[in-house]
Amino acid sequence: DDALRLGLRLIPYAAGQRLLVARDMSKLMQLEQVRRDFVANVSHELRTPLTVVHGYLDLIEPEQLPELEPILHELRTQSRRMTQIVEDLLTLSRLEAQDSLPEERVAMAAMLRTLKREADALSQGRHAIVVEAADEADLLGSTKELHSAFSNLVINAVRYTPNGGTIRIRWAPRDGGRVFSVVDTGQGIAPSHLPRITERFYRVSTSRSRETGGTGLGLSIVKHVLQLHQAHLTIDSEVGVGSTFSCVFGPERILQPAPVGEEA
Ligand code: ADP
Repeated sequence: DDALRLGLRLIPYAAGQRLLVARDMSKLMQLEQVRRDFVANVSHELRTPLTVVHGYLDLIEPEQLPELEPILHELRTQSRRMTQIVEDLLTLSRLEAQDSLPEERVAMAAMLRTLKREADALSQGRHAIVVEAADEADLLGSTKELHSAFSNLVINAVRYTPNGGTIRIRWAPRDGGRVFSVVDTGQGIAPSHLPRITERFYRVSTSRSRETGGTGLGLSIVKHVLQLHQAHLTIDSEVGVGSTFSCVFGPERILQPAPVGEEA
């Protein structure tokens, strides 16, 4: 921790020599903490007024004001969007404030079924949704947070894949660990966007993403959840062909099937 605060770095200098560079990071870390607290506080304060606005909008029957129907529709859409942004910001703040998560057996068979159901509901038959699980292995981690991460990837795949496309939800072994991946035949992401894609609010096409109802925070949430599981995200994508988002877990996170009668 002290090394981190000091920002110690060893860099090559002359032949056979290294230079140890120490930089005082405490000011930066304090600023980062102020930013986090600020975002968390603002989000929290916005929650109540938004609930009220949302609640009152729901009380208005469009038939009472037929000429205002389109406006009412737009107000509802935007207030729902704002609520989603606030909820996602609060989720991010909560994840950032944690060093670890409570761990349990994450029943992957049930998880994959839930994700398929969610994808089917969103796609409404416009895509083929396929689940491919190599075996019955489970994960050690937080079911709630992992579901939110995996679900973000599945929702994105549906959103950014044209009708008639295929979305595969995979759970497979790799290098002694496991990979959860979502493979789509969607619009793909140009290589120039990839390095920044998991940043908050970063989007390839702002207008298109707004239409799809995203907040631009989904992949940041995925990244944070994975970090808390010592896992990482890899993205392979080709414009016009599709994308593969993979969550890579180490062997220490893998649990073999629970003995019969010990269903999680
Ligand atoms: P959003 O709420 O906008 O989807 P995300 O953080 O989940 O925010 O994703 C950031 C951006 O990455 C999206 O706006 C989109 O441009 C791009 N993206 C994410 N998933 C995919 C995908 N499966 N195919 C193509 N582009 C994607």
